[in-house]
Amino acid sequence: MGERIGRLAPSPTGAQHLGNARTFLVAWLSIRQNGGKLILRIEDLDTPRTKRGAAEQAIEDLRWLGLDWDAEPGGENGFPPLVQSRRLSRYQEIFEHLKAKELVYPCTCSRSDVEIAQSAPHESQPIAQIGSSIDDVASVHGTERRYPGNCSYRGVADEQSLIAAGVNYCWRFRMPDRTMEWVDGFCGFQSMNPREQLGDFVIGRANGAPAYQLAVVVDDFDMGITEVVRGDDLVPSTYRQLAIYEALEWTPPQMNHLPLVIGPDGRRLAKRHGDTRLASLRQ
Ligand code: GLU
Repeated sequence: MGERIGRLAPSPTGAQHLGNARTFLVAWLSIRQNGGKLILRIEDLDTPRTKRGAAEQAIEDLRWLGLDWDAEPGGENGFPPLVQSRRLSRYQEIFEHLKAKELVYPCTCSRSDVEIAQSAPHESQPIAQIGSSIDDVASVHGTERRYPGNCSYRGVADEQSLIAAGVNYCWRFRMPDRTMEWVDGFCGFQSMNPREQLGDFVIGRANGAPAYQLAVVVDDFDMGITEVVRGDDLVPSTYRQLAIYEALEWTPPQMNHLPLVIGPDGRRLAKRHGDTRLASLRQ
């Protein structure tokens, strides 16, 4: 087996919380206890939500926690070289491959047509629990709205008439209409038909920017990531990302999803549980 390569991937959309700290700690431990390389990547593509100074703060929080990562050439001002907003042309290049394979189509549905926030990587519900079965995954998914596929009759070439008509559109990826299976390092066996349960997802935004789902796959592939550790609210995203890996004929990393940190009331840690920002805890 080659070298193990993991990553810390904070999103500078606000302060890092206790839950982020635990995910970072497990990702860090997995590499530091077993040998390998750990890479820091700043996931700043969610532009309306990206906050000025939040990336610097995340780096400071990580350092304060005593977590370290391996130096890579090309970073500047204490920043890692891997900042997603600096890699847009690479994402575009890969997106063109997906277009050439007709795996994406232009979609003109408005957000209210779909009633699901596609920009953020995190779903509102934790999906997988340790040892979850197909039924668990399916039932929690029942609460989530899937994209009904209104625009899926379109092909890539239809973009031209939309441009000519001045209509706004984003790009959706065609999810495979069959059962997808994978084994999570923490949650165990996972299985669902992603087209039936999740529907086609946004892979390119209306303003032409790549969506998180594409960027994360291209980054993990380019960085040679062999293991991903993140919260289990991203299990649905993993189906989307595995579908992209498959389409590109790339080997995916081992996926490991941690149950989210919850408060004493059993609900996902949030403002109602008090101030759990790392910067505040540190003070
Ligand atoms: N950037 C995401 C976050 O801060 C993590 C995404 C991932 O690990 O793939 O939650």
